[in-house]
Amino acid sequence: MKILTSPADLQAQAAAWKKAGETIILVPTMGYLHEGHLSLIRLARRNGDRVVVSIFVNPTQFGPTEDLDKYPRDFQRDAELCRQEGVDALFHPSPGEMYAPDFSCWVQEESLSQTLCGAFRPIHFRGVCTVCLKLFHLSLADGAVFGKKDAQQLLVIQRMVRDLNVPIRIIPAPLVREEDGLARSSRNKYLSAQERVRALALSRGLFRAQEAFQAGERRPEALTGLVRQELEAVQAEKIDYVELMDRDTLRPAGSAAGHTLLAVAAYIGKTRLIDNVFLDDTPACP
Ligand code: AMP
Repeated sequence: MKILTSPADLQAQAAAWKKAGETIILVPTMGYLHEGHLSLIRLARRNGDRVVVSIFVNPTQFGPTEDLDKYPRDFQRDAELCRQEGVDALFHPSPGEMYAPDFSCWVQEESLSQTLCGAFRPIHFRGVCTVCLKLFHLSLADGAVFGKKDAQQLLVIQRMVRDLNVPIRIIPAPLVREEDGLARSSRNKYLSAQERVRALALSRGLFRAQEAFQAGERRPEALTGLVRQELEAVQAEKIDYVELMDRDTLRPAGSAAGHTLLAVAAYIGKTRLIDNVFLDDTPACP
């Protein structure tokens, strides 16, 4: 496995692979890898000849009061995991290599990124879109894998690729959970043992809503209410949102009829956690 830190080196390696007729799939991450990331890497493997994983805690997607400095990092362990997964190149640049001191060009998605996390993290998706477009250019990737754990991010990136005609295929990957339901996340490391138990309220609420949906419930406030009930039962420190959104617009859905996303962001202790389920109201085949 090649470990590359310079953007020029990644682009040169990618160009050599392309010249040899090989396809490249990129898996962008912020590191501190877990089973969720590994499932993305395995999906990438099945979709192309070469797999590039990037590990970059991207400063431009963190707000001034967010956890950029304390975001968990363990590059040696991440590299070992990538080696075991047969990753071809691990790209691990420093912020200085990714952003010139007078960097001044940004990609701003102006619709899907306004609600949900975007309403609470105003510069977040501008940073995400900008760094992803840079990574797409550097890796010359034919495809890039994004997890449904960050459902809004996936939809925003798909929109950017569509609107800016970026020649890359976005490959969505299923959300990976712990056995007890907790969505896997690098930020779970922040949770104390007690907080980890309380954090199960997010997935428990979403599963209850999913069951109610399967039993025919379509009213947004009934579905979101089930999630809120669980969060209130564990006295979540703060609920940023529990929303049922139309999946195409990420605006509040009038009903769970159609394709919707039930998404939650809440603080357990000082840790902000997100989770979601996609609700699909497709009529059963006759
Ligand atoms: P991160 O390192 O948290 O920025 O995540 C990098 C990629 O891994 C993103 O596409 C995430 O959506 C994806 N990812 C993170 N956690 C999970 C999970 N539990 N299941 C599926 N994908 C995930």
